[in-house]
Amino acid sequence: MATIMNGKELAKKIRENLKKDCEELKKQGIHPKLAVIMVGNNAASKVYVKSKSKACDEIGIEYEEYFLEETICQEELNQLIKSLNNKREVNGILLQSPLPKHLDINRAFKTISYRKDVDGFTPSSVGKLVMGGDTFISCTPYGVMKMFEEYHIDLTGKEVVIIGRSNIVGKPLAQCCLANNATVTICHSRTKDLKEHTKRADIVIAAIGKAKFVTKDMLKEGVVIIDVGINRNEEGKIVGDVDFENVEKIASYITPVPGGVGPMTIAMLMNNVIKAAKEQNKEDSIF
Ligand code: NAD
Repeated sequence: MATIMNGKELAKKIRENLKKDCEELKKQGIHPKLAVIMVGNNAASKVYVKSKSKACDEIGIEYEEYFLEETICQEELNQLIKSLNNKREVNGILLQSPLPKHLDINRAFKTISYRKDVDGFTPSSVGKLVMGGDTFISCTPYGVMKMFEEYHIDLTGKEVVIIGRSNIVGKPLAQCCLANNATVTICHSRTKDLKEHTKRADIVIAAIGKAKFVTKDMLKEGVVIIDVGINRNEEGKIVGDVDFENVEKIASYITPVPGGVGPMTIAMLMNNVIKAAKEQNKEDSIF
């Protein structure tokens, strides 16, 4: 039976430490603040935004929300981002994805100041991640790395297979694993023989968005499984990309859904907001 990697517990511990950091900052007159922009009425986005505001409240981070009409144009969105870039009291800017189809998310991300890029999505942050500089690491990959650290899973020399090549999960995760000396393979929808890759992997990270996609027969005994996926099954229950019940029997470590990577993503967002507030108030800031 696998060890269940408890992201919920670890995230709680991280949030408790951040709360103390936040109190310290406030004693110095620094009040960390996150601004969240959401465009349109996406139901899932609303849930994510709500859990982010709840985490801010718990830690003592100030929070501003901007709910924009579905019909807003790119210029208006970019103007709002620019005004938040210039607002001294705002330390972090988060643009909730997805955006309506007529808006270009990359253009919007490019507008966010890298000093306030707490999601780690701007070209500047991504470039620094690739080159190995200190930067904001996007929250889901950062959360996964923290889980490896907590469970003493050393990536050095390990075969890591990541399924999914998105800009927000798959690609930055690959960079993080590489930085930790893993041999990394990124698989995606055009990969010819997925099983051939996953079968030899020491660690498989699933970020696909398809329930029960990763099955026991695709994996070797003792594999470490990180399930990033968030899906709803036929009964409306939240499930991951991995067939947990069966895979758990052969894995050495496995993350559950819910209670695995999800809470870690939010904890690392909070971590990045506190980091932003600290850096923006340092004389010798690297940002
Ligand atoms: P995405 O849709 O941008 O990317 C999905 C990836 O899966 C693509 O790169 C695609 O090539 C790959 N894929 C699709 N079908 C495949 C197939 N048959 N074989 C191999 N690869 C295939 O999604 P995303 O934004 O990266 O998110 C992935 C999942 O992770 C979603 O379920 C999302 O909800 C979830 N997610 C969770 C968190 C969290 O905090 N836990 C954060 C972000 C995303």
